[in-house]
Amino acid sequence: MSAPSTTPRSAVANSVWPRLEPLLPQVAKPIQYVGGELGAVAKDWDTAAVRWALMYPDAYEVGLPNQGVQILYEVLNEQPDVLAERTYAVWPDLERLMRAHQVPQFTIDAHRPVRDFDVFGVSFATELGYTNLLTAIDLAGIPLLAADRGDADPVVVAGGHAAFNPEPIAAFVDAAVLGDGEEAVLEITTIVREWKAEGSPGGRDELLLRLARTESVYVPRFYDVDYLPDGRIQRVVPNRPDVPFRVHKRTTMDLDAWPYPKKPLVPLAETVHERYAVEIFRGCTRGCRFCQAGMITRPVRERSITTVGQMVREGLEFSGFHEVGLLSLSSADHSEIGDMCSGLAQQYEGTNVSLSLPSTRVDAFNIDLAQELARNGRRTGLTFAPEGGSERIRKVINKMVSKEDLIRTVVTAYTNGWRQVKLYFMCGLPTETDEDVLEIAAMAHEVIRAGRAATGSRDIRCTVSIGGFVPKPHTPFQWAAMARPEVIDNRLRLLKQAVNADRSLGRAIGFRYHDGEPSLIEGLLSRGDRRVGAVIRRVWENGGRFDGWSEHFSYQRWVEAAAEVLPDFGVDLDWYTTRERDELEVLPWDHLDSGLDKDWLWQDWQDALGEYEQDDCRWTPCFDCGVCPAMDTEIQIGPTGRKLLPLTPVNGLRVPSDAQQ
Ligand code: SF4
Repeated sequence: MSAPSTTPRSAVANSVWPRLEPLLPQVAKPIQYVGGELGAVAKDWDTAAVRWALMYPDAYEVGLPNQGVQILYEVLNEQPDVLAERTYAVWPDLERLMRAHQVPQFTIDAHRPVRDFDVFGVSFATELGYTNLLTAIDLAGIPLLAADRGDADPVVVAGGHAAFNPEPIAAFVDAAVLGDGEEAVLEITTIVREWKAEGSPGGRDELLLRLARTESVYVPRFYDVDYLPDGRIQRVVPNRPDVPFRVHKRTTMDLDAWPYPKKPLVPLAETVHERYAVEIFRGCTRGCRFCQAGMITRPVRERSITTVGQMVREGLEFSGFHEVGLLSLSSADHSEIGDMCSGLAQQYEGTNVSLSLPSTRVDAFNIDLAQELARNGRRTGLTFAPEGGSERIRKVINKMVSKEDLIRTVVTAYTNGWRQVKLYFMCGLPTETDEDVLEIAAMAHEVIRAGRAATGSRDIRCTVSIGGFVPKPHTPFQWAAMARPEVIDNRLRLLKQAVNADRSLGRAIGFRYHDGEPSLIEGLLSRGDRRVGAVIRRVWENGGRFDGWSEHFSYQRWVEAAAEVLPDFGVDLDWYTTRERDELEVLPWDHLDSGLDKDWLWQDWQDALGEYEQDDCRWTPCFDCGVCPAMDTEIQIGPTGRKLLPLTPVNGLRVPSDAQQ
């Protein structure tokens, strides 16, 4: 088998390629292990002062498009004396062969053993990747437990959103970084470079100590957890005098100064996204109470329209992609999104480039934008996310959308030529009843009825997609009880019946859902403490791999492992998942500072139970969530510093209100 590469593989120092290559014809999709994509970087091993292996703990097809890893890969490789290579989770077929033939976990860039690197950085978007982390560490030949590692082993660093509560994997990682990675990886690199140049004084312990002293790298081994007799945490305290009591998240303030990816990776094998993705802003202040990403990435920081335009042009020129995604947590909220979309649409009109915006905001403005982006004749799908079925539950979750707004918006989409829209909801939300969920059916029926009336056509459809709610750390719902899987499954069954109760309408409604079991396990991992690490290990030892994939996930395996392991600690699966926490309980992540004030989060949780809504601080006065003063900053919107919103319609196209004056 040959692979595109500028360096002959046999010439790469310490490459496992000669041993790996004969195995590849025996596995599915061998191309995913070959590397050498456009955008990949091959650097000299010997002249690199610091070497990083970066991992997204899922298969290549999911991992390669991951923006976080692509950005860090590029930022690190831009440093002349730093080398960064990528590794992904290998499928069980290759894992079996690698074990049989003693081939270690390798990077796909130069097929070097992961164990040879200084730092092994793993970015987690979801906790269901934890078992894949254990596979990679074990295949690499690195001791599974951080406590057993020696000076020759890489420092295993976790990042990504799941690192905001790394306690369940505390035994397996040496460190965790909270927040934005661009500057954090360079700071870690500087510390590693200096420590190595000094001759590695004090060994691994000293290096970890230097990292911990930055106050933004969490080193679990330097903290002890004490428990109360009833199983709750009593306290988490440093076990040495020179590490901070709280570890703070990193925030990259000026996104224009970090216009990555500049050279996006172009996959060789099929992946979940094949497009040039630009993050148009980071952070969100809409305040949806279930949304961890929105909470932990505050404050809002916009990338300027000028930088976005330049990134799109250069990214497309470099990659040859035909699709551009303008990404963020709520892209229609960028203060210059109207100008951005019309400008890009104009620039690429008549070309084969298609532009898309993840659509979640339920209002006609989103359709204006989608229309604008569809000038090239390609309509991307429209997705709206009311999240909750009833007005009441939408108040609980702070998703301020009325049923009338939703129906009006979807009907506008149908009358503007869309034949299919997707509506996204969650099931299992705090205080939710069967009636709240059944209102989803009534809403979907009304959407189809109104759509048929407005268009005079029966050729319209909507897909109702339902995800399971998982309470996440650093959100107002971090204290909430989860619903049991059988409750969720029963609600979904009732909902399906209600959707199909009217056959004429039901025929136009697609229904997609996940059952409640994976969500419960995700809930265990999200809000778990160090004791949950023993469950992860047991599941992994019993064959757990790729838990984010329904065909690989085994609920039974998790339930059995929890039942075997947790009673020794006097707790169980229910204790972690379906139990509501009280205000004074020490949460496993309280010593990890996301910037949000815990008192504010508690008040917002009480407001949720009282069905009170909280405004978006972009358009209203600050309500003191704690983030801005904690970071000595403020929300950044508009490159000029002027507030350009709210947007109001003018001649059918929305423009910033102050532009009309
Ligand atoms: S501190 Fe105030 S302005 Fe900053 S994100 Fe929180 S509520 Fe908004």
